[in-house]
Amino acid sequence: MEKLIITAALTGNVPTREMTPHVPLSPAEIAADVRRCVDAGASLVHIHARDPEGRPTLDKAIFQETARRIKTLAPDVIIQLSTGARAGRDWEARANPVRLLPEMASFTTGSNNLPGIVYENAPDFLLFLAGVFHATGVKPEIEVFESGMINNALFLQKKKLLEPPLHFDFVLGAPGAMAGTVRNLVFLADSLPPGSTWTVAGIGRSEIPLATAAIAMGGHVRVGIEDNLHLPNGSLATNAQLVETAATIARTMGREIASPAEARRILSLDPQRCDRILASAE
Ligand code: ZN
Repeated sequence: MEKLIITAALTGNVPTREMTPHVPLSPAEIAADVRRCVDAGASLVHIHARDPEGRPTLDKAIFQETARRIKTLAPDVIIQLSTGARAGRDWEARANPVRLLPEMASFTTGSNNLPGIVYENAPDFLLFLAGVFHATGVKPEIEVFESGMINNALFLQKKKLLEPPLHFDFVLGAPGAMAGTVRNLVFLADSLPPGSTWTVAGIGRSEIPLATAAIAMGGHVRVGIEDNLHLPNGSLATNAQLVETAATIARTMGREIASPAEARRILSLDPQRCDRILASAE
């Protein structure tokens, strides 16, 4: 089996200081928490931006400052920026994080319900955002909340807008979308074309059980406060504790943890592009 890529999803759009004291919100807090997660075994970080009031934003300057600080404290880690819609529905604003030239950015290839909203990613928006990924050479992590989103990604690949091998993240257990069960994870993993890579983000209490299944299946895992606030014992978790939990399970099973360089190879990322985000942030 390949070594295990652990992604840390530190902040998201939803968690607040009232929900957990451990969520990092400012660029400085996020960068310091990234360093702790890398020390615990993370090779990839999934990054959201918040404004000074803690609200979700797609502001380029805040993403840039966050990236600069991460590169200072954890120069090797792979940075993946979110293009999620809770921070804004304007197409150009949602493309901003990709245009900053991170190594990766998230790309949800379809629509579904989430608490309080329709997470809207219409067909013409998918063509637009896939075009931005194509033009910039940024690798998408295809966020799959429902199985049809795999077909949509393969359609974009057929249109020559996405380049194989594709990398998928199965987001399971979000209220409004597919349940966080091992059966769903097996079905989705079996639905991918050969050569694809995948990770799983279990929401809430499904986070660690689905991570455990993915480690056994040869997939990769995403953990962090964006998806789940608690350790399996019910206490509020830090991001580093969630990474450490996944790393400990992997080591117990005899699966080694990938370094950032090893994760780049597994994900077919060009190592020469790892600092493009710094040049774009000048
Ligand atoms: Zn996210």
